[in-house]
Amino acid sequence: MKEQNNKINNYSIVDDLANLVIYLAIAIIIGYLVNELTFSILIFLSIYIVYILYSQYIFERWIFNYQKNKSINYHQKHQYLVSNLNQSFEDLTETKLKFKILEKRFKELSASMPDAVVVVDNNFVTDWFNDAAIKMLSLKGIDIGRPILHLIRNPSFTKFINSSERPSNVTFTSPLKYDVTIQSFLVPYGENRYLLTFRDVSESDHLDKMRRDFVANVSHELKTPLTVIFGYLETISLSDQKNIDQGILDQMLKQAKRMDVMISDLLKLTKLQNTNIPEKNFSPINLKNLVNELLIACKHKSKINKNDIKVLTNDDLYIQGSYEEIYSAFLNLLLNAIMYSGSGVTIEISYFVSNEKEVIFSIKDYGVGIPSDSVDRLTERFYRVDKGRSREQGGTGLGLSIVKHIMNRHEGTLKIKSSISEGSQFSCVFPKSSLAMKSAKSSSNI
Ligand code: ADP
Repeated sequence: MKEQNNKINNYSIVDDLANLVIYLAIAIIIGYLVNELTFSILIFLSIYIVYILYSQYIFERWIFNYQKNKSINYHQKHQYLVSNLNQSFEDLTETKLKFKILEKRFKELSASMPDAVVVVDNNFVTDWFNDAAIKMLSLKGIDIGRPILHLIRNPSFTKFINSSERPSNVTFTSPLKYDVTIQSFLVPYGENRYLLTFRDVSESDHLDKMRRDFVANVSHELKTPLTVIFGYLETISLSDQKNIDQGILDQMLKQAKRMDVMISDLLKLTKLQNTNIPEKNFSPINLKNLVNELLIACKHKSKINKNDIKVLTNDDLYIQGSYEEIYSAFLNLLLNAIMYSGSGVTIEISYFVSNEKEVIFSIKDYGVGIPSDSVDRLTERFYRVDKGRSREQGGTGLGLSIVKHIMNRHEGTLKIKSSISEGSQFSCVFPKSSLAMKSAKSSSNI
């Protein structure tokens, strides 16, 4: 059998030609012997053509009525083709079977997934979706081939899909049920394909809102009695009461002030988390003028701390944003550099447009630096590297958390780099879209 297979696989056109030459020679010899050379060659050629046509017919019939393991043994060439075709058909059947198993597994997997999954092409046209997408997004079979933005109508989702600087995910209210919050991720895969996942995050969103509301309510409730206590303490300290220990009174005032700052920061943070910036609060901000304002605000503290503050940029550069919030974020970073980097430290302020057209505002100090395991935790609420020093400086541990939220509201990010004994760099990175055009004259107010 092996020998036969080898023979089949070793088929070559030379064998065919050799046979043809042998039969032709026999025809010539016979023709020569019977003295009918032309007639003999003609007869041979006719028989040969009929043989070729017949074997062709047999082979075509076999191809059209192909059945596995049904073979033809008409011509060696056919045996060779049949054997190869049989092998290819076998491979194909095996691959088809594997695909069927994979398809079945994928369907079972996607059906059991609680998240809705939609496959779209590079024009965001729907290609496929799982069962969860039918329930969560009310998609139907006829929606295949339709743009996803025609099927899920929500301004935040539309902005997310159309954005050139797309964040990793978007959270929006379900277009079908107003009390359902959906979080969607867009992941590129394969060639020109995207996987869109949709998760119902209503529960965690609700819990998060409850937590934020609780903090806001408690802070609000504490604010009023604290203002009263603070007022009385100030009155007592200003009055000429001889039987009151001034040291104790100063401590009470200091602690009451600390609590007041903390409550104000907590309220500020909850407000930043709970609300979007109203469009009317956006205006072009000249970073050059803003830096001057920051220097004035920090003049006293930097003088006491003997800092050398260098401004490395002197250009008019405008970003679109809320002046109040951006000022508060940058001031926080500059005050931190003054308060925590150490006495007499050089601080550099710079801003520029990166190659990616992002606007980067950076505050760099050459001070004590921050341990690497603390860098990632700096924007957590109440996180302080040196609790004692922060408390002494009147810090609440909420400053960088506020900065991070302000940057989020401007679709930007806060990047922190720091090395012990070398210093720290806090960079606010604003997206390309925040770059604003405005002449220096028209922004005189900022
Ligand atoms: P705080 O209200 O305590 O200032 P922040 O969130 O602004 O809170 O800062 C968190 C902590 O990060 C600070 O307590 C301080 O330990 C550390 N930190 C911030 N900026 C710097 C800096 N430039 N150099 C060293 N440490 C810093």
